[in-house]
Amino acid sequence: MRVSRYFLPVLKENPAEAQIVSHRYMLRAGMIKQQAAGIYSWLPLGLRVLNRIQAIVNEEQIRAGHIPLLMPTLQPADLWRESGRYDDYGQEMLRIKDRQDREMLYGPTNEEMITDIFRAHVTSYKDLPLTLYHIQWKFRDEMRPRFGVMRGREFLMKDGYNFDVDRDSALHAYNRHMVSYLRTYERMGLTAIPMRADSGPIGGDDTHEFLVLAATGESEVFFDSAVTELKLGDRAVDYDNRAEVAAVCKEFTTLYARTDETHDAALFEAIPEERRKVARGIEVGQIFYFGTKYSEAMGASVVTADGSKVPVEMGSHGIGVSRLLGAIIEASHDDKGIIWPEGVTPFPVGIVNLKQGDAATDAASESLYKALAAKGLEALYDDRDERAGAKFATMDLIGLPWRITVGPRGLANGLVELTSRRSGVSEEMTPEAAVARIVEIYGSI
Ligand code: ATP
Ligand code: MG
Repeated sequence: MRVSRYFLPVLKENPAEAQIVSHRYMLRAGMIKQQAAGIYSWLPLGLRVLNRIQAIVNEEQIRAGHIPLLMPTLQPADLWRESGRYDDYGQEMLRIKDRQDREMLYGPTNEEMITDIFRAHVTSYKDLPLTLYHIQWKFRDEMRPRFGVMRGREFLMKDGYNFDVDRDSALHAYNRHMVSYLRTYERMGLTAIPMRADSGPIGGDDTHEFLVLAATGESEVFFDSAVTELKLGDRAVDYDNRAEVAAVCKEFTTLYARTDETHDAALFEAIPEERRKVARGIEVGQIFYFGTKYSEAMGASVVTADGSKVPVEMGSHGIGVSRLLGAIIEASHDDKGIIWPEGVTPFPVGIVNLKQGDAATDAASESLYKALAAKGLEALYDDRDERAGAKFATMDLIGLPWRITVGPRGLANGLVELTSRRSGVSEEMTPEAAVARIVEIYGSI
């Protein structure tokens, strides 16, 4: 993409309404535009990151054996009357009437609808296990929408629902989600710690929230600092192997890590003092096992191997897809702007032409741009007739992890400069070597 032809409405001033750094940088980098409280348009740069995040979520869900589908944003109120939640949900639910005076709502979550789909089509244990998920917009009329996409009213969520014949299988589905989430967040460059949480209004037995540590987080968290060292890395996990999946979950949930809702002072005090941490965190996901709560209320059952009919065991599992942009920026930025992890960056690399209009630098920039494209890497090429300082400031603000700078002085020796946004370290090399390095970096993630 050439900056001269792109739509990148970067702001010079700090927007007054933004209280936290991620919101500020998303507005300044031209990623989002607020349309109403907690409701945003996703401008091209923001949409690219949102799409990257969705791609990672999809890949990891499919790897875990979960199946994508797509449910609508609008739902009939009657489904929610069956579960009893139509009245319970209160003012967070946006209620709408259509022209026939039928009561509808903009879905805040989809337990009822997925249970309805299940009961219409599945009757036998032979069709289980089954986990269906979608990535879809939700609406919750939050009392205090704030911090940009972090607490929106309309927001994008991945929500998945498992259906299993018995409790053990449902707990395996829970564990599978935990492992797939760990991998998902790691690929986004995040450390998200699973913390035992309170089951709240959805109700249920087992639930963990995934928290990214950040001073601006809304939750107070208590943990053993050793938990932040745990990494899944690229180890292969066989999602069908119950013992193996359970062992990974145990590894990640044995050390103390809880939110204020489930905090236990006595257990916390038992941690060696230097490892006892109290901090703040951003909830980027949550997994729930709730058994037969919805299947009993809505009549979703299966016939088992011995011929008896039982309500299906369920759980629901969510990832805050749009909130993740804010969480990633909170976790990865400096005073010049965003620093995207390679896994989610809107463009893999930026090209800065220091002397637009100079035949040699134009030609060298152009050929770099094309060489990268030939390798499947779309660079953001700043081909505007602007001062170098302004081009660098834009690149730093939008946070591409790598920048190639092309100028007459270097080119006289056949060299360009490759700069890491994170370390600030620059290295001179030939254009071919720069392309090879970028290909190598993105080939390995
Ligand atoms: P919170 O406690 O932050 O209000 P929640 O526990 O009500 O969230 P869940 O029902 O668990 O939310 O939804 C799954 C995920 O969706 C959350 O972990 C969070 O990342 C994201 N999410 C929830 N509410 C919002 C919101 N208003 N704006 C953006 N993302 C949200
Ligand atoms: Mg939650």
